[in-house]
Amino acid sequence: MNPQAVIITVGTELTDGRITDSNGPFLARDLEGRGVTVARVLSVPDAEGAIGWALTRAVELEPALVVVAGGLGPTADDLTAAALAGALGLETGVVPAAAAMVAAAGGGDSATLGPHQVKQATLPTGSLPLAPVGTAPGFIIFAGAAPVVVLPGVPLEMRQMWAEARSLPPIAGILDAASAPARRRLNFYGAGEPEVNAAVEALRQKYEVELEVSICARRREVLLEVAADHNHQPQVDELIDALMDRFKDTVYSEGDEIEEVVAGRLTGLGRTLAVGESCTGGMLGETVTRVPGASAFFLGGVVAYSNEVKRDLLKVRQETLDNVGAVSEPVAQQLALGVRALTGADYGAGITGVAGPSGGTPEKPVGLVFICVSSEEGDVVRGFNFPGSRDDIREYSVTAALHMLNRKIMDDEAAAAESAE
Ligand code: ATP
Ligand code: MG
Repeated sequence: MNPQAVIITVGTELTDGRITDSNGPFLARDLEGRGVTVARVLSVPDAEGAIGWALTRAVELEPALVVVAGGLGPTADDLTAAALAGALGLETGVVPAAAAMVAAAGGGDSATLGPHQVKQATLPTGSLPLAPVGTAPGFIIFAGAAPVVVLPGVPLEMRQMWAEARSLPPIAGILDAASAPARRRLNFYGAGEPEVNAAVEALRQKYEVELEVSICARRREVLLEVAADHNHQPQVDELIDALMDRFKDTVYSEGDEIEEVVAGRLTGLGRTLAVGESCTGGMLGETVTRVPGASAFFLGGVVAYSNEVKRDLLKVRQETLDNVGAVSEPVAQQLALGVRALTGADYGAGITGVAGPSGGTPEKPVGLVFICVSSEEGDVVRGFNFPGSRDDIREYSVTAALHMLNRKIMDDEAAAAESAE
């Protein structure tokens, strides 16, 4: 059986909804990827009782490892060290090695620490301090046999200190004994979640081994992950290969995001992209530029929100705007053609739609979006009725545009290969 871990994230801003926990998911992915099963992720406010409660609950599960993140700061609301000591029945005190680390981080010496620094060096007795990335040292303390790794809450600091902690003997020993599971992912667009689920269920009957399947649907994409014990890679591979064969028209990647797939294709082919966006306000450009190295293929975009900008910058015809309105197939097409002409890109994408919540009419309801992808080889225009909020509709539009681009690039390549024969 895989070793188990419990993750505790600390911060009132997490439990009152001000920010979304990113440390918990990061640590969970990291541990799971190393073959450690995350039994629980607990988020608690900056309150001694709550932090102590979480550690007590965690220890009851007899995990191999506990990871805590947050609440190590110098201020009075940072209570993690004291709370953990309380739950473990330990005293706290200035740990000399921690004091030296805090002093070094502040450029002073440990004889002359200020009160905030003394607080940050005050840890449960018996702690092994971890060198600060910012100002606060982390530490490792044992709860029975299980090491409890305590990290800062600032995500960048947390990640860096966790990377250090992983190589220290008590943690490295646990991670080395774990075996990364056999795992494969498959992403689909245009296949329904029930359809994928039914296919997976039918296939998994064939195997004696336990396969862990998780399916999640998002903006018409279906993301599948199949995992099994590390010595069952052949079964996982066989199942994934069967699905790839069965869903060859709708599988778009083995886990990569669609913008990464499109970026890979364009870069590989040495072709370029520009975007003319209305209702998405630049989100398509933002999404493709998340991919490192986007400058290899992305020339730029025009956020053509008003009719004047559509007309003056992207040469959308006034006549078209007057006759069929801004949210229409021909305008999507003229946005794509216009931005291609303006930039000289090989591919142009145009998006126009009603993102709502107001502005819908019976003929053009909220969620109506037209998208065009244009290249030398021709244009493809599609209309959609996307559900949900303004944000949802904009995100659906970007995802759909990227999938249309992906399809168009593949079709153009296939046509070129055919005509070369
Ligand atoms: P440290 O332990 O490094 O002192 P802290 O929890 O004491 O961290 P805070 O001031 O509470 O410090 O948090 C620092 C920053 O890190 C804040 O912007 C906070 O929102 C962010 N942060 C803390 N925990 C998380 C988390 N679990 N996920 C995402 N962001 C977090
Ligand atoms: Mg905090």
